[in-house]
This record gives sequence, structure tokens and C-alpha cells, in this order.
Amino acid sequence: MKPTVAIVGRPNVGKSTLFNRLIGERRAIVLNTPGVTRDRHYGESHWDGRTFSVVDTGGFEPEATEGIVLYMREQALQAIQQADVVIFLTDGRDGLMPADREVAGLLRRAQHKTVFAVNKCDNQEQNATAADFYELGVNRVYPISAEHGRGVNNMLDAVIRMLPEPHDDEGDDEERVTRVALVGRPNVGKSTLTNRLLGEERMIVDPVAGTTRDAIDSRLMVKDKEYVLIDTAGLRKKKKIRRRSSEGYSVLRTLNAIERCHVAILMVDAEDGVTDQDAKIAGYALEKGRALIVAVNKWDAIEKDNATAKEFLAQIRLRLPHVAFAPVLYMSGLTGQRVHKLMGMVDQVRASHLFRAATGPLNRWLKEATIAHSPPVSGTKPIRLYYATQARTAPPTIIVHCNDANGIHFSYKRFLVNQFREQFDVVGSPVRLTFKGKANPYTDEEGAEIESNSETL
Ligand code: GDP
Ligand code: GDP
Repeated sequence: MKPTVAIVGRPNVGKSTLFNRLIGERRAIVLNTPGVTRDRHYGESHWDGRTFSVVDTGGFEPEATEGIVLYMREQALQAIQQADVVIFLTDGRDGLMPADREVAGLLRRAQHKTVFAVNKCDNQEQNATAADFYELGVNRVYPISAEHGRGVNNMLDAVIRMLPEPHDDEGDDEERVTRVALVGRPNVGKSTLTNRLLGEERMIVDPVAGTTRDAIDSRLMVKDKEYVLIDTAGLRKKKKIRRRSSEGYSVLRTLNAIERCHVAILMVDAEDGVTDQDAKIAGYALEKGRALIVAVNKWDAIEKDNATAKEFLAQIRLRLPHVAFAPVLYMSGLTGQRVHKLMGMVDQVRASHLFRAATGPLNRWLKEATIAHSPPVSGTKPIRLYYATQARTAPPTIIVHCNDANGIHFSYKRFLVNQFREQFDVVGSPVRLTFKGKANPYTDEEGAEIESNSETL
């Protein structure tokens, strides 16, 4: 699991501004959390060779002062439990506020790794006001301007020093044992299915060594085949109380699980249908190049006739058009209906994920596809696709050498990928296409710059 850094602070101190600066050009994942007025943001940041997740804990913003204190206590407690490092953000213009003292005290008493930053120090004079914050009894405060970037590098150096030691639990993409993540919205039935897979079917369970923090993976054996089920700690725990603010971190767990898996099983709730949140999770799995299965859970709970499965499939294809490659299973973790089929499907999509095409057939695919449907013209010159090579697996990544890497339309890429899937029987895995060609197809000069353009479909 990547280390997690949470930004905690009163409303309007600049948490989202800082968040955006930390994730830079990378896209944030925005997921709504029930009961919270503002969507939560999750992102990834890189600094000094380290990668970490960033959470902007901003959420509902109570009006009354005592409301703010209560809210911040909750926010800080969650961050203490779930984040490796907290950036405690205050506002240099407001000066030290009672809520700041309260929460700073909490973080100090918990001896949680915390970097204290005073925001809106846009110039040197304002740095002086930051000194007031030493009253909190902290060793060091970092004056920053989230908006302009002043001081942010120094603050990040401090964050990095506090991160836990890096360790390698990523595993090899081609390793023998398939890593499976059960993902989906709260209450969709992940824990129930996990318990069934690990317990009732009498599979061997033991924690996989070397996994971090509370991300404990389990090994499971099905018909003499070994799998790793990712982050079972988070799933097996009986969640008696589900606190509103903890759901933010459950989203982060989901994203981390996807990053660490080979095969993601996206569980959707047959009773609720496919939601936006499901589409976002599927999009993340696609972006990360993971094999994917859509499991429609609680199939026992709905009224069905002959057309129900077909209708549900239509809904899935409509709401999750970006992962139309994913096979669908209608199941019930509670009754066990079709659970026995799940691992067979995992094997199937993983085989596709690891598929490697030989050069001959690969170039026959390219040739036949372009004959069936020639690439559209870009500008005035026809696009030529010269030859293809497979750069890697998991997911299959095909490099197509051409004369204009940026001139190929999305619809044509999709056509190529569909042909590829059909030709090689690739099911349940994304396919990554990288086009390589001259930056400017209109020059014939030798050694013109080579552009590369990638898409996962
Ligand atoms: P959040 O509620 O803590 O997420 O705060 P926001 O990031 O939404 O920022 C609240 C306001 O403070 C916005 O109007 C920002 O433009 C402003 N702000 C954020 N960072 C800075 C800064 O470094 N300097 C100044 N002057 N304003 C800032
Ligand atoms: P999680 O939050 O995704 O881990 O979901 P849980 O496994 O805790 O399940 C949430 C609720 O849905 C519990 O009350 C389960 O008993 C129920 N549930 C889980 N799977 C099924 C299922 O296949 N059918 C039905 N009818 N209920 C289920």
C-alpha cells in the first residue's frame, strides 16, 4: 500500500488549493461520500523519488463554531488512524484560531507524524506571522503559499522524511500467483464474499508476509491453485459502526487495492443497479491496466424473469461503456450462487491479461484490420501503420509504428483493439495501444523527432 498523506484543517484555509498543487498535472479521483457536501479528492503525488496518496479531507462545512471543532476532531482522529503523515494546515491571515489549538493538541498528544504548515504566506512579511503558530508548542512550522507555491518544497521535504520506509510489495506483473481485488461501493457485499471465499469453502488462509500497515492480503487455494486476495483486513473486519468520515479512507483502500491487483472484481449491487461510483472505479481499473470482472451481487434479492439478466447486461454496457470487455457474473455472496464460477473467470481474464502475441500473427492482425478498414486521413497525408510489436503484457501493450502518432482517432483505436480481441480471444483485459511515429508527418527529414501516444482500451 502506498503511504497516505492527509491534509487536515479548518474550512477555507486552502486545503484543496494545496491538494491541487501536490497532485500537479495528475488527475484527481473525485468520489462522493454520503453525508458530505463536498466531494472528496484523492490523488497521487511524487516528491524526491517517493510516491504517496494525498487525501483532501475537506467535507461538510458546519456553520457554527462548535460544529467546526467537533467536525475537525473527527477529521483529525480519522487521519490519525488512517494516514501515515498529516499535513495540518492553518491560515496565516486568520492567525491562530481556537479550532486550530484544539486539533493541533490532539495530533500532538497522539504523537502522530504531523507537518504543521501555515498557508497564505504569500510574501516574506507574512512569514513573520507564521511564527505565532509556534505557540502550538510544535518544533517547526512551515510557512507556505499553496496558491503560489512558496515554501511548499521545504514542507514536502519534511513530509518525505516522515514517510515510512519504502518497501516493495508491488510484486511482478508476470508473477505466477494472481492477485485479486474485490472492489465496489460500501455494502455491496465485499466482506460477505470474502468470508465465503476464505472460510466456508475451506480454503487455506494465511496472511501474506510483508504487507504493510493494515493492508493484510490473504492467500487462498482453489483446486490446487493459489491466489492472493488483496486487503482482506479491510474486508474481513466486522464493521459494526461505519463512521461517515471513515468512508473517505475506504475509497483510498479501494484505489490502492486496484493498484496492487492483477484482476479486479467490481461488485455492483443488483438491487441498486450500476451507479456513477461504479463507473469511476471501473475507469480507474482500466486506467491502471487491470483485468476486470463485473460481479452483479445480491442476485438472490431481486425478482427475476427470463429477461432480467439481459436487461441488467444492457444497463452495464450503457453505464460502463469504457469496460465493455469485462465479463459479467450474476451471483450471490450470501447464498453462494455461482460463487464457484468466480475463480474460473479470474483465471480466464488473467490469461488474457498475460497474453503475448507472436510477431507474425500480430502483424497479420494489423494488416487485416487496415485492409478491412483503412485509417482515416489526418490533414492531407494518409496515415500509414507500418508494423506492430508487443512491448509487454499485463495488460497486452502493443506498439504500432506509423507515420503520425497523433493523427489517429479514438474510434479507429477502438476498432483496432476490438479486432485484436477477436483475433486473439482476449477477454476481460484492457489492451494498451501505443502509436509511435514522427512528430511532424509532413517532413521527410531524417531523424525527425519521434512522438508516442498511448491509449488503454
Ligand atoms: P479549503 O476549504 O481548506 O479546501 O480551502 P480552499 O483551497 O478552497 O481555499 C480557500 C480560499 O483561500 C480560496 O479563495 C483560495 O483561493 C485561497 N487560498 C488558498 N491558498 C492560498 C494562498 O496560498 N494564498 C492566498 N492569498 N490565498 C489562498
Ligand atoms: P461490504 O461493505 O461491501 O463489505 O458489504 P457486506 O459484505 O458487509 O454486506 C452488506 C450487507 O449486504 C450485509 O447485510 C450482507 O448480509 C448483505 N449482502 C451481502 N451479499 C449479499 C447477497 O449476495 N445477497 C443479499 N441478499 N444480501 C447480501
